[in-house]
Amino acid sequence: MLAEYTPDGWRERVVAFILRWTLRLLLKPVFSPRFSVAFQRRWLEALSRIAIQQRGVRREAGEVAGVRGEWFRRDGPALRAGTLLYLHGGAYCVGSTATHRALTARIAWATGLPVFSADYRLAPEHPFPAGLEDALAAYRALRAQGPVVVAGDSAGGGLTLALALALRDAGDPPPAGLWLLSPWADLVVPDPPPPEPPGEAMLSVAWAQVCARLYLFGASALSGERPQPELEAEFAVRVLDPLVSPMRGDLGRLPPVLIQCGTDELLHPMALALHDALLQAGNPSVRCEVTRHRWHVFQMHVHALPSADQAVDRAARFLLEQIDAQHPPGGSAEEPEDREVVILGAGMSGLCMAAGLLREGRRDFVILEKQPGLGGTWWDNRYPGAHVDVPAPVYSFSFAPNPRWSRRFASAPEIQRYMQALAERLGLLPHLRLRTRLVRAQFDADSGRWILETEAGQTLRARFFVCSTGPLNQPRWPEIEGLERYAGERLHSARWDDSVAVAGRRVGVIGTGSTASQLIPPMAAQAARLHVFQRTANWVLPRLDRRYGALDRVLAQFPPYARAVRTFWIAVLEWGRKGFDEGTLARRGMLRAARALRERQIADPTLRERLTPPYPLGCKRIIYSNEYYPALAQPHVELVTEPIVRITERGIVTADGQERALDVLICATGFDTVHLLSSVEVRGREGLRLSDAWAKGPEAYLGVSVAGFPNFFLLLGPNTATGHTSTLLYIEPEVEHVLACMSAVRAGEHRAIEVRAEAQRRWNERLQSRLAGSVWSLCRSWYRMENGRIVALFPGFTAEYVRAVRRPNWADYTLA
Ligand code: NAP
Repeated sequence: MLAEYTPDGWRERVVAFILRWTLRLLLKPVFSPRFSVAFQRRWLEALSRIAIQQRGVRREAGEVAGVRGEWFRRDGPALRAGTLLYLHGGAYCVGSTATHRALTARIAWATGLPVFSADYRLAPEHPFPAGLEDALAAYRALRAQGPVVVAGDSAGGGLTLALALALRDAGDPPPAGLWLLSPWADLVVPDPPPPEPPGEAMLSVAWAQVCARLYLFGASALSGERPQPELEAEFAVRVLDPLVSPMRGDLGRLPPVLIQCGTDELLHPMALALHDALLQAGNPSVRCEVTRHRWHVFQMHVHALPSADQAVDRAARFLLEQIDAQHPPGGSAEEPEDREVVILGAGMSGLCMAAGLLREGRRDFVILEKQPGLGGTWWDNRYPGAHVDVPAPVYSFSFAPNPRWSRRFASAPEIQRYMQALAERLGLLPHLRLRTRLVRAQFDADSGRWILETEAGQTLRARFFVCSTGPLNQPRWPEIEGLERYAGERLHSARWDDSVAVAGRRVGVIGTGSTASQLIPPMAAQAARLHVFQRTANWVLPRLDRRYGALDRVLAQFPPYARAVRTFWIAVLEWGRKGFDEGTLARRGMLRAARALRERQIADPTLRERLTPPYPLGCKRIIYSNEYYPALAQPHVELVTEPIVRITERGIVTADGQERALDVLICATGFDTVHLLSSVEVRGREGLRLSDAWAKGPEAYLGVSVAGFPNFFLLLGPNTATGHTSTLLYIEPEVEHVLACMSAVRAGEHRAIEVRAEAQRRWNERLQSRLAGSVWSLCRSWYRMENGRIVALFPGFTAEYVRAVRRPNWADYTLA
């Protein structure tokens, strides 16, 4: 797979300009046959001293199987087994562990793996195969301890590939994955030589040619001992050895490979050719990432150049995936993996919890996530048109403002990118256990530990168990007779499948909630015919969206401005909460705006009538959209309000007996918010099951703690959803609460903390009495159970919840 990245942002541009010219003026002229190898080595080491070093990583000299090198280890506990062997570049003649320290330390930090950077023997003193022998010896010794991934840049990339070939041919256990940064995988220089790209900042053909000869023949290549034609004739043969030019060898049966390169480098075409060759050799997992306008091994400039950090983070993700696939982390029932904290779910709240732990210097935690990527609801809900319905400045954490939002109401992919970038910036990748589904969790009172079992059979023990799965993670399929019988393509909005084609087909959408209102406009734009099955018409308000321009993005870099914008939107949304109370000015304004939008956007009075909500504003989640009504008003779109009676093999039959034939049926029918955490069997003290404790509906103290379940915390638990503002404003103080509880256990050397049943009862009685007469009690919605009990929503203002939850009231807890 080939992926292209275009770096952007003013910092990237300025730093890239300075770095490119620095390399051109200070390095490229020295990487030349005019200077001795000894001088080139000293010069490169001197220049690399100005690189910014990674904090939080320890470096120490080491030796593996007689090969000297340096170890880079991230502070904190090892979070999985495995090592990374790094082979530096330098055309087999220059470079050392010292010249690559910034990069190798950054790799250790991003992957969490111990990195052994090998000072393999260099030419001309030690020609081929000395370097390869060192790499083999180091690899074999490391592999004896557990899985190994191998990475190398330039000549080190070529050496990495040669190492993989040699290991395969010798029948050794293969590396879990390879990362090749601008690999020099073929030492043959074509005749005529490739043109040097104008942006090339480091390499020249002349230098590469000399180094290749030094690699094969040692100092004799330049001594003049042998006649030049004889030397060249031998070179022409030996350079084809696959262990010298691995691209010339059989590339079959190699481990997964990630290649990275820039477009402004001499070796760009080689990287692409290597990618093709690996694909042709049947390597399905080869991936080539090309960064536009970047030069040879631009990743060396980590910390200074954002695109370098991003490339390393992508590689870290790739390598960890390969290690986990070869050697799944986690312990067994007999020997469980021990952690201080296990977080379930890598969505916004899980991320916030992890950030909080890191802020407190706590690194002994893992995040279990069933999906192959982080994002939670933003990973799941990737249907076309998905976006947040609160302004993005409030849909980012207070500790991680994002000046790069492209518009006020950010799209799902943009939010997912924000989360990914945040996780990478915080160094969370090693803590993530993707594709890991938790099936059981049991509190062991004797040890004060949770015993957690995954679907794959791994067992973890943890002092604290934090469930950050949120209310919107179990898709709810509609209970309609015949749904299983439908023979066309069937999708749930929360499990979108991009491979299902919609263009030019007959599409049906069941549901007209927040999700459907976002999904329907893009569907209408593509489908030949779109039938929207509406059970209840909803309230729709205009979305005050706008694109953020360059000026917005520049201003957003200034913390006081960013804070002011955020505070403004928090206040606006908080004012919107008044709209849920009868007789308020806010409510009158919202009702007027909804009516005006309907009248302005729907010309047909009958359609307008059918789109008029039959329940009071605010009872269900309000929809904010400028595109929903216009989409419904198009001639090829039909709003069906006759109730659905059954689904057939062909389509949907409504109460009037009409059957609408469909090619694609989309269920935008929401989530099961009542059976929270039903996919995990959670047992607390004395074996109490959470599902039994919640038999009458989920409830918790402040939405965070549950009586009978010590050292167990929920984020966005029961009655913490909000109909008017950003959930992130609720998550942050919940995390503070959880951190304070954890600190109390540690500080008092207690075994466990548990909320008093009485405190939980009081909190919920108060909530339910407020909710009983509220607007949310007046219609059916995902906020309510069938019996009318509202289990999802917090009834008050944000500030009220924040005050209640931020600092635990210790009288409501027992510490044992
Ligand atoms: P939802 O609000 O629960 O809406 C489900 C829709 O499916 C409703 O229109 C419902 O009709 C309909 N439906 C369910 N079962 C049906 C059946 N058997 N027959 C016919 N219609 C049926 O789900 P959602 O739209 O996915 O939204 C859920 C929540 O996700 C939102 O409230 C919001 O909090 C969140 N969300 C947020 C964003 C965002 O931008 N931040 C975007 C999307 C969703 P009835 O109304 O008659 O029950």
